[in-house]
Amino acid sequence: MPDNKNYSKVSVLVVGAGPAGLAAAIQLKTTKPDVDVCVVEKSADLGNHNLSGAVLEAEPLHTLLNAAVPGWQDSDAAKDVLANKIDSDDIMFFLGKKLAFNIFFAIKLSKKLGLGFGQMIHKGDYSVSISKLTNWLGRIAKNLGVEVLTGFAARDIILDGAGAVAGGVKLVDRGLDKEGHKQPNYLEGELIGADFVVLAEGCDGLVTEKFVEKANLRRQNPQLFSVGVKELIKVSPQQYGQFTSGRVVHAMGYPIWTPVIGPGMFGGGIVYAGAQDLLSVGMIVGADWKYCDFNVQDALTNLKNHRFVKQFIEGGTVVEAGAKMIPEGGYHAIPRDPQTGSIGKGNVMILGDSAGFVNMLKIKGLHNAIDSGMQAAKAIVRCLDHPERAAGAYTELIDRSNIAKEMKSAKNFRQTIAKLGPLWGMPLSALGGLLPRFEIERDYKAMTAARYRLKPNQHFDKDTFTAVAATEHREEQPSHLTILDSKTCKTRCTPVFNSPCITFCPAGVYETIHDEVKPANPSNCLHCKTCQRKCPFDNIRWMVPEGGGGPRYKRM
Ligand code: SF4
Ligand code: SF4
Repeated sequence: MPDNKNYSKVSVLVVGAGPAGLAAAIQLKTTKPDVDVCVVEKSADLGNHNLSGAVLEAEPLHTLLNAAVPGWQDSDAAKDVLANKIDSDDIMFFLGKKLAFNIFFAIKLSKKLGLGFGQMIHKGDYSVSISKLTNWLGRIAKNLGVEVLTGFAARDIILDGAGAVAGGVKLVDRGLDKEGHKQPNYLEGELIGADFVVLAEGCDGLVTEKFVEKANLRRQNPQLFSVGVKELIKVSPQQYGQFTSGRVVHAMGYPIWTPVIGPGMFGGGIVYAGAQDLLSVGMIVGADWKYCDFNVQDALTNLKNHRFVKQFIEGGTVVEAGAKMIPEGGYHAIPRDPQTGSIGKGNVMILGDSAGFVNMLKIKGLHNAIDSGMQAAKAIVRCLDHPERAAGAYTELIDRSNIAKEMKSAKNFRQTIAKLGPLWGMPLSALGGLLPRFEIERDYKAMTAARYRLKPNQHFDKDTFTAVAATEHREEQPSHLTILDSKTCKTRCTPVFNSPCITFCPAGVYETIHDEVKPANPSNCLHCKTCQRKCPFDNIRWMVPEGGGGPRYKRM
């Protein structure tokens, strides 16, 4: 919760206490202890809004911590977060409706042939709880003297007259009622000025997207997203032992893709071993799906009922659940200044998932997020006397780093599938750099009146899902979800697509009330932002609610 301390001006302001932002803060304080660094984070506690697969390629983390915390490997937190080293090499399966085929040989062959798919090997990485990782990094940052302020939601970035240098970041007002009237506890959102602004909000960050617009940054291709839903399931010791602790499984095919006959969606299922007796089971589906009645949770139900997965989780208890989007557009979707090519502008830098540094060939972005934080810190140190040069310095460092190498190597993978579909796009993408850049559409334009033919018999229980995500918001505040034009819902969307937001929102936020579609339950929102990117008429806007609201992930 905000306190009375004055944060009206800091040297470095980081928006978002995820791996990227915290890595930037830790590296800065390690190199320049005298620089004041402040991190604002909308969640109530560190790690509450961090949800991911998550397979961690640990080298950037090791580099960061070796410099910041001597002997860090011996700490209890390190042992807890990095307890699951992946040593099982059978990660890729193709699922038919009944059968499972191990296709890992194809990945190994790709590696031998130097093809992009060969990057999908995770042996030696770690299966981590990103929530725990973030919480740990946050504590390290605090110990180094970083001000990490949880419960502080940022809603806008203020640029100076030239439109390049940020005057600061505006926080969300607190204490408004549902109609927007000031309550006795009203607190105007502070304007925090900063010499440097680091945007590390994660996927589809609100302040980042405002900055991209205001500073006229451009993406060559629109950002593509996928939607992931995940459950953490407590299983029996026998089931956990049968799955084995150091193992991650990725599954293509059923229930989202069957060659030729469909359905034809990009993505797949995951089963990761977590802490003792905990397995993560999730579905990640490209948000360019065309089925108007599709919900990723239905696909998750099908995956859980597939006998390959069922054997490990049957009888288990879901102890946590969540949903998020992942930026998949890759290299061509990184926002850059059209004149200079910088990833940001002036004293503002864009990091991690906010920039879209996810390598879809590896299905990993966590290592790039941490690495981008370190590069941002280096750029700031170089530009302490010239903050307006920071974005340029940061981009030079990124372009010379492993991040750029990876992003370039994967640059045609997802966009080729978006253009040609999984059947043709997947094999063709093996041509990698020989392919041209395809013009692709935003995800929401893919919606059609087609129906998902593998709908499970049972209705997904969204109430329980949101309950175990532990999401909550102060009820008496303005809704952070807006439907721009209700007439569009009524006359164009509902007759053709049957109001897909009601189906695809994983938290059941949207309902039809008196013949009108409304964001009726905003306090259930999981902050996944799917509705903003998948409404077929681009008719929904997601705003940041008061700080402290949202899901409370702890172990995912
Ligand atoms: Fe359709 Fe979008 Fe309206 Fe929902 S908000 S009914 S998805 S137009
Ligand atoms: Fe996600 Fe939108 Fe539903 Fe919130 S309302 S859970 S952002 S789809």
